[in-house]
Amino acid sequence: LVARMRPFGETIFAEMSRLAVEHDAVNLGQGFPDTDGPRSLLDGAARRIRDGVNQYPPGPGRPELRAAVAEDRRLRYGLEYDPGSEVYITVGATAGIAAAVLGLIEPGDEVVLFEPMYDSYAAVIALAGGVRRPVPLRPGPAADGGRFAFDPDELRAAIGPRTRMILVNSPHNPTGTVFTAEELEVIAGLCRDHDLIAVTDEVYEHLTFDGVAHIPLATLPGMRERTLGVSSVGKTFSVTAWKTGWVMGPAPLVRAVQTVNQFLTFTANGALQLAIADAVRDEHAWIRAQRDSLAARRDRLSQGLRAAGFEVLRPQGTYFVMTDIRPLGFTDGIDFARALPRTAGVAAVPAQVLYDTTAEGRHLVRFAFCKRDEVLDTAIDRLTRAFS
Ligand code: PMP
Ligand code: GLN
Repeated sequence: LVARMRPFGETIFAEMSRLAVEHDAVNLGQGFPDTDGPRSLLDGAARRIRDGVNQYPPGPGRPELRAAVAEDRRLRYGLEYDPGSEVYITVGATAGIAAAVLGLIEPGDEVVLFEPMYDSYAAVIALAGGVRRPVPLRPGPAADGGRFAFDPDELRAAIGPRTRMILVNSPHNPTGTVFTAEELEVIAGLCRDHDLIAVTDEVYEHLTFDGVAHIPLATLPGMRERTLGVSSVGKTFSVTAWKTGWVMGPAPLVRAVQTVNQFLTFTANGALQLAIADAVRDEHAWIRAQRDSLAARRDRLSQGLRAAGFEVLRPQGTYFVMTDIRPLGFTDGIDFARALPRTAGVAAVPAQVLYDTTAEGRHLVRFAFCKRDEVLDTAIDRLTRAFS
């Protein structure tokens, strides 16, 4: 294994899912739903496969999906992209982010990002020979919900002469924070002042609660021309195995993604792309119902965790809830999460592994609530019993 990848072992999601299987635990670790996406989406894909749509789609993606993505972006956010040159289909958001970093970061370039961070970011920046400059998100007082936010001065201080890119994930995994217009304006101002490229991971764009709305960074003044927006189908339509995503941005930035991606995966999921195009266009009611249902399940799991003794930090989006384990008498989330499948029959994810430079996540553990009510209730029962 090359030296720059040696720090990266098995991903935490794979490790915790493996432990969950070993101990027959309820898996609230790795984030994937236990119910299916819209019927029309599943049937649409099956029909295309039966009808013989089984050969390579065009490298940049099926025109139908690129058009549907562009139209959706325009209708929901007022952002206009040319489907022919400014929308590009990838193997999930993961490949889109990887191709963006590999195509735009020279060795030694710095990438500013927020920690805790989704685990693929650090690995692809390392592959590109880039340098990570993490800025911590910290929880506010638990009594006010414990929303995680950054300190604008710390963000400013992270930017230097070698900074080339800022990678922004909102709604944010694992904290559940949805950045406000004011927070985004701080980021946008720094991008404009320092001529930075922004890559925005928006895979949870539809999963926001309590009337909080997702705002793409590209909608802020001067940002469309320097932002690559990334999203995907997995979270929106509960089909995480489908690994189909899209990158949207000005043509020169999308060309950089394309140049790299044509040699990584070349193209993605032909028949699925046609079914996804229909769902992106038509399944708005399904998305609304899913969002309401997830909000209710967030509340159900949060209440249960609180009753079991955790301090619960309220997420505004995604399908994860962060907890502080110190009220239960524990301090090390990694030890706690490694033991939990065996001791309680529940799997979770320790947030510390998603931090890069600080120990601020040591006592934080993430639980996924994208599960059926009875599954959440079983987990709550088990945790309550384990810690009473
Ligand atoms: N970014 C974040 C923040 C995620 O949580 C995930 C999925 N778990 C991804 C990217 C990957 O998305 P995809 O499956 O579309 O590659
Ligand atoms: N995004 C999912 C999570 O945060 C897992 C993705 C993965 O396993 N790589 O749990």
